[in-house]
Amino acid sequence: MTNTETEITSFTGADNTVAPSDSSVTSATPPATITFADFGLDPKIQKAVLEQGYTIPTPIQAQSIPHVLAGSDLMGAAQTGTGKTAAFVLPIIQKILRHASNSASPARHPIRALVLTPTRELAVQVAENAASYSKHTDLRAAVVYGGVDMKEQVGILRNGVEILIATPGRLLDHIGSKVANLSQVEILVLDEADRMLDMGFLPDLQRIINLIPAQRQTLLFSATFSPEIKKLAQSYLRTPVTVEVARQNAAADTVKQVIHMVSSSEKQRAIVKVLENRTRQGLSRQCIIFTNSRLGCAKLARALERDGIKAGAIHGDKSQGERTLTLDAFKSGAIEALVATDVAARGLDIPDMPCVINHELPYNAEDFIHRIGRTGRAGSTGDAIALVDASEKRLLDDIEKLMKRKLDIKPLPEGTPAYAKPPSGSAASTKGADPFFYKPYEPTSAPQSSDDAATSEVKKVGIVAAKPAVGALLGGFKKK
Ligand code: AMP
Repeated sequence: MTNTETEITSFTGADNTVAPSDSSVTSATPPATITFADFGLDPKIQKAVLEQGYTIPTPIQAQSIPHVLAGSDLMGAAQTGTGKTAAFVLPIIQKILRHASNSASPARHPIRALVLTPTRELAVQVAENAASYSKHTDLRAAVVYGGVDMKEQVGILRNGVEILIATPGRLLDHIGSKVANLSQVEILVLDEADRMLDMGFLPDLQRIINLIPAQRQTLLFSATFSPEIKKLAQSYLRTPVTVEVARQNAAADTVKQVIHMVSSSEKQRAIVKVLENRTRQGLSRQCIIFTNSRLGCAKLARALERDGIKAGAIHGDKSQGERTLTLDAFKSGAIEALVATDVAARGLDIPDMPCVINHELPYNAEDFIHRIGRTGRAGSTGDAIALVDASEKRLLDDIEKLMKRKLDIKPLPEGTPAYAKPPSGSAASTKGADPFFYKPYEPTSAPQSSDDAATSEVKKVGIVAAKPAVGALLGGFKKK
């Protein structure tokens, strides 16, 4: 079984009835309930969709696919986990299927569709999906991202590929060395466009888009529609249709959000309490815990391990190989708490995540929406818990303003954690007694992402090793 196959969700709770319309939504209202058969997709694509176990389109798919098939530019406001990848990949395959060729000649396989993503993880996931959805066709899909040797990617690009998924920096490298040519691109997708702007990719995007024929179809997906995103859309999209599956800048309704006011020094203990409470309630302890800094991330994971919680850290200082191992351990259940920074966690496809914990609030309110979007995905329910201390009040205000709602503040669950650590302040808990004693992260500088270094690492496209499934992808383009 490939990695992709293990990521398939057994998703039964889809409600693909159309979300209440918003004044900014210009899409025509589709029928209340539709099936994949209604899109008129080629049987080869429908077969692949069935094999994924998808029976009903998710709302973003129900709303987007007909517009993409009709040739419209599109702005999709879709949170992570809504099924947005299939919402653009399936109609893309349908649209370029007429070019499919089993010829070995590279000239018969120019790049027809380009998907740009902010991170290697997202690029890999989109590529795996594209490979799965196109596996019964002669179309080729591949992914290029930085940090790995260019040689293998050069070979793949030289052989020809119709659907290319790329991070911007590495794509520009290949364009610079005349290995990638965008002159026949018909469809461009800017995936997680808000994140690409946050990460400073705008100049790279501009350079890339200028190399693509003006007669193209452009699709832009973003969790939020900030003024910058609207400006980007104005520059590069033509009278786009806007589809939204949830209220703008709102979290999925399936996510139950709770705030616990906890002092910074008590947060680690609070996590233990929260997890023990979940055990008592018979709920899964699997959770992602978000931290703002790499250092805080690594320290918290170690500290939780000492408290008997199976934890792993995923942040910008970890090699891709380490990240993959940790993520696999998390998916298999060997790790129950995945402690992550925003950049590292971005784009990770972890189906059916029951719980997200914010160890501290992000400096950027929009990141809060991305973080909690890890739970309540594709129709399932989830808990989003934020541990907030008094110094984070202003960040909480920003988040509530963005989400246009007040979040419930509740006391921590009752019950004493079973872990053995003495209360903070006691002699045994001091740094001297335990050289690895966890000192909670405390922001020292101006509110700015302290994972910037990770961002610049991704900007340098420093990808290390590919997942096995992607290795297969890189080697052979297609899953057989
Ligand atoms: P995405 O938002 O594209 O990352 O997708 C989130 C998850 O939903 C992935 O694991 C997909 O495989 C899954 N998914 C996408 N579309 C459907 C569907 N129509 N039915 C069930 N699962 C889906």
